[in-house]
Amino acid sequence: MIVAVKPDADTRSVERALIGRGLWIDRFEAEGRTFFSIAPHSSAADREALLAIPGVESVAIKKEPHPRVRAQAPSISIRGTKIGADCPPVVIAGPCSVESELQIFALAERLSAHGVELLRGGAFKPRTSPYAFQGHGAAALRWLRSAADAHRMSVVTEVMGAEEAELVAEVADVLQIGSRNMHNYALLKRVAALGRPILLKRGMAATIDEWLAAGEYCLLHGAEYVIFCERGVRGFDPSTRNLLDLGAVALLSGVLGLPVIVDPSHAVGRRDLIPRLAAAALSAGAAGLMIEAHDDPGSALSDGPQALSTEEVRTIVAMTFGSAVLTDKEHRHG
Ligand code: PEP
Ligand code: MN
Repeated sequence: MIVAVKPDADTRSVERALIGRGLWIDRFEAEGRTFFSIAPHSSAADREALLAIPGVESVAIKKEPHPRVRAQAPSISIRGTKIGADCPPVVIAGPCSVESELQIFALAERLSAHGVELLRGGAFKPRTSPYAFQGHGAAALRWLRSAADAHRMSVVTEVMGAEEAELVAEVADVLQIGSRNMHNYALLKRVAALGRPILLKRGMAATIDEWLAAGEYCLLHGAEYVIFCERGVRGFDPSTRNLLDLGAVALLSGVLGLPVIVDPSHAVGRRDLIPRLAAAALSAGAAGLMIEAHDDPGSALSDGPQALSTEEVRTIVAMTFGSAVLTDKEHRHG
């Protein structure tokens, strides 16, 4: 945004008015006139309010770079569960990887009894090491769908490559794009063209603008809806796995009105800190949480150290929904 000051106006008083509204400004002069450019990290500024400041002549606004994201409805219903900025937060939970039919059925049963309505689990796993467990692929997708169906849950699972996009779309209610693929525009286009809702994880070094642009790719190319997922960005301190960006959550949900799910599991990487981050995420305006769960984390094929037990997930659900709603949801699923 650029604010032009009237030639005869008191520039200092315009400057004070802008800073007073929480705007970070840079002053510059051109052809004897004074202008202020407003930095992106400023508070939200309404054009009409700025024009009303005495001494302001005009306010120029950059063309909206993510029009489809900004025009998106505040929420979407996934098999009857509303997710979005204007409804109560949801919990998505499940294992990092779908490890066996038995495992996913047992977890689905316990998690749904605790009020979880969306089951997550990786069938195709993006692993940093090529020697690590890569997921059970198509078989895991079938187990995940049947386990979810048995407990009237929705399925959230990742599409890792274009070649498996259709296969994943046959079973998933929400198609997850992982952090490592947020910048993979060919994949975004291919997955978007399936016309389904997408859970778009933030790239681990992506700016908010790049993340929103990836969402714009999805909507431009046919996705039904984009739910953003903050999973921590790469920090400088190895004491936690990543750095949960709660400022981004507050900005997307509170200022832009967008649905943001927070994944504290991958953000912090250790189970003892997950409940605190979950609470902080909800305070920052998250539309929900995505939690990794496992009842025998020591034997998990991936991400065991950050997996919560289903009992621990129950506590997070209680915190998220409030106990009155929990009773109702438990009743419905029990
Ligand atoms: C996941 O949620 O399964 C996952 C791999 O997370 P991320 O893409 O955020 O690393
Ligand atoms: Mn994981």
